[in-house]
Amino acid sequence: MKEVKSPKKPLIYYYGMAMLIIFLFNMVVSPMLMKGRIVEVDYGTFMKMTDEKNIGRVQMDSAEIIFTDKEETAIYTTGIMNDPGLTERLYDAGAVFAKDIERPTSPLMSIFLSVILPMLIFIALGQYVGRKLTERAGGPNAMMFGKSNAKVYVQSTEGIHFDDVAGEDEAKESLKEIVDYLHNPKKYTDVGASMPKGLLLVGPPGTGKTMLAKAVAGEANVPFFSMSGSEFVEMFVGMGASKVRDLFKQAKEKAPCIVFIDEIDAIGKKRDGQIGGNDEREQTLNQLLTEMDGFEGNNGVIILAATNRPESLDPALTRPGRFDRRVPVELPDLAGREAILKVHAKKIRLSDDVDFHTIARMASGTSGAELANIVNEAALRAVRSDRTVVTQADLEESIEVVIAGYQKKNAIMSDSEKKVVSYHEIGHALVAAMQSHSAPVQKITIIPRTSGALGYTMQVEQGDKVLMTKQEIENKIATFTGGRAAEEIVFGEITTGASNDIEQATKLARAMITRYGMSEEFDMVAMETVTNQYLGGDTTLACSADTQKEIDRRVVELVKEQHEKARQILKDNRGKLDELASFLYEKETITGEEFMEILGKEEG
Ligand code: ADP
Ligand code: ZN
Repeated sequence: MKEVKSPKKPLIYYYGMAMLIIFLFNMVVSPMLMKGRIVEVDYGTFMKMTDEKNIGRVQMDSAEIIFTDKEETAIYTTGIMNDPGLTERLYDAGAVFAKDIERPTSPLMSIFLSVILPMLIFIALGQYVGRKLTERAGGPNAMMFGKSNAKVYVQSTEGIHFDDVAGEDEAKESLKEIVDYLHNPKKYTDVGASMPKGLLLVGPPGTGKTMLAKAVAGEANVPFFSMSGSEFVEMFVGMGASKVRDLFKQAKEKAPCIVFIDEIDAIGKKRDGQIGGNDEREQTLNQLLTEMDGFEGNNGVIILAATNRPESLDPALTRPGRFDRRVPVELPDLAGREAILKVHAKKIRLSDDVDFHTIARMASGTSGAELANIVNEAALRAVRSDRTVVTQADLEESIEVVIAGYQKKNAIMSDSEKKVVSYHEIGHALVAAMQSHSAPVQKITIIPRTSGALGYTMQVEQGDKVLMTKQEIENKIATFTGGRAAEEIVFGEITTGASNDIEQATKLARAMITRYGMSEEFDMVAMETVTNQYLGGDTTLACSADTQKEIDRRVVELVKEQHEKARQILKDNRGKLDELASFLYEKETITGEEFMEILGKEEG
């Protein structure tokens, strides 16, 4: 690291100041400290003064007795003797047993106080001023070359433990080993096992990766260094690398400790050897690799890193000896969601009607961060309506708020638009309900949201599903097309309201063919690979142009089939469609029960 000298400011000025401080100190503070005169006496004098009842206060220390005379003219000290009746005699002499008699300062001490302390103060002051000047002179980039600004959390301030992270049991299991190792490294070294140097926490945003890393530090009771990958990437080449060096230097001094690098993909992206590639990032990455190779295993520095795009990481980072263990941190399942809700609900006052199981079921697909947000949003809603407890309704409404945005209070939706939206949403729901395998709806609202959605359908799945059958996917596609189908049948006209439906239906249809092997033509051949599993799931095609054409044709065919099916279902149930749509149109919201009730009623 490049050390920079402070500029030559009038140093004489500082020396002058130091002299002044020393002078003042000697004049004012020292006399105060020395006020009580200290007299060292032998034990005989002490006994004599006791007999003469000339003891004011007395204090017994382990090595000496400190006391004053009746008039408090001076402080005396004497050694300790084995003197059994002393306490009683002192009591009889009317002495006050004290604890606060100022310990007489030794001459050495007084030199320290009057000379060395002010000097130290001065030096610290000088350095502080010097640093300030350096900063001002050139800004951090010119002078403070590559000083790392890793935040150090000491466990007591953070205090996050595994209990605070709900669900994610598999991830915790993996990390518990690290905690155990930090507690008792000998157990591992005895067998000859060495801990992985780096662990990669992989998963979608908001699933608690940062929290888990902090919890490891919290459980192991070791310091926690945290830095985001993007903080390493600086404007000037070489600075990121020197930050890495600095971070590791600090960490090694504090070992055992946890170093956490968030968003490691910011520096760890594949080096693609492009002309004019990002030199700075590559240097930073190289430095990180060097540092990781540089320290031996078992030195107590454990590096945790988080990313949501593991596939973009440079293979050099993930090979053995570096980040060789991968800990998946997935979106929580039903039980996980319920547990996360409960953890966050500890902070709020709940009414008795709250049922977390239902909330967790309604909030399928949400991350831990979103669930935390839902709980907080519910609490805010309770406050807004002047209640002191959070109710089930608060929580239910918050799910919609977090997923679809706030209700637009003064949204402009004309009457005819409202009618179209009612039919559109009921179209989805009715198609879903008529296909035995599709999930029933929980609730539909046609209140415009700040996210731009005009209506919102909450689908409820019974528990989490891992596998989907071909039939179920097809039904899902049909459900997506149900909104548009209703518009066609009722109004003979189509709107732009189906753009999202179209996107999702297409995605599903394409995945069936290219990834799930659910078409006769292509059998079990992968035509696509997922490149971005955790952020939207982008895919790249891996087939010839001819095949692409064929795939596109098949996708269109598949969606068309399902669209036709949806239309047919709605035509067959036209009466129910009208009935349900007008109910929604009037009430603006319909629950799953109301829906099923109307659906089950005899038509008439
Ligand atoms: P990530 O690093 O994966 O993006 P964070 O660890 O920063 O996510 O999580 C963000 C917030 O979400 C946390 O502060 C916490 O309130 C909440 N959260 C996420 N996952 C969980 C979980 N499993 N248990 C409890 N709270 C969670
Ligand atoms: Zn729709």
